[in-house]
Amino acid sequence: MIATAGLVDFHCHLDLYPDHAAAVQDAEASGVFTLAVTTTPRAWPRNHELAQRTKHVRAALGLHPQLVAERESEIELWDRHLAETRYVGEVGLDAGPRFFRSLDAQKRVFQHVLEGCARAGDKIITVHSIRSAKAVLDLVEMNLPPDRGKIVLHWFTGTKREAERALELGCYFSINAGMLGNDRHAPMVQAIPLDRMLTETDGPFTRTGDRPSQPSDVASVVEELGRLRRLPARDVANLVRDNLRTLLG
Ligand SMILES: [Zn+2]
Repeated sequence: MIATAGLVDFHCHLDLYPDHAAAVQDAEASGVFTLAVTTTPRAWPRNHELAQRTKHVRAALGLHPQLVAERESEIELWDRHLAETRYVGEVGLDAGPRFFRSLDAQKRVFQHVLEGCARAGDKIITVHSIRSAKAVLDLVEMNLPPDRGKIVLHWFTGTKREAERALELGCYFSINAGMLGNDRHAPMVQAIPLDRMLTETDGPFTRTGDRPSQPSDVASVVEELGRLRRLPARDVANLVRDNLRTLLG
């Protein structure tokens, strides 16, 4: 297994582990650049506070599409915190069977988020797009000019054609173990240019062995990606690190 220092976990829910502070400390100790996403802006202040004491952990301000049905009104709180961060997420759309009914509200919220980011400028946004790649890309195209912010599509499961459209719009992709282990999605991952790839765990929602993944487990994503792209894991790690640098500008 390659060393974890310098790896990138661009989408992890550190506040959903049993001990949030310990999860932040473990990420910090591993030396993995970890983007701690949030599902509600109510979680932002604590995530921000813990991340500020670290070198490697950053917090993102989110309003998860799966929570929009009950929490659409929290968009006001999201607005109030936006100036405090460069990172936004988890945001986006979820048109899966459980959340389809709130899709109109989700679109309102996501459009509002993109407009706010476009106005503010220089935000980096980690985006959920379950069964809604086309709608997500339509909203991005209409509301976020490429020079006003950057989109990172997290756990993207759209088609190859949709991935190509996302690339044309300047999007990055953060790739996790769940995508690589899936025969339907691996060919799409294979088609993503190396200079648009980031890595993520989406912990604790993915598993490594018999426990929820944590940021240091992104090492196995890097190794798996290396096998898929026929590159040494070290080279993949360096590429992803360079991509992160470019993204952060
Ligand atoms: Zn997530």
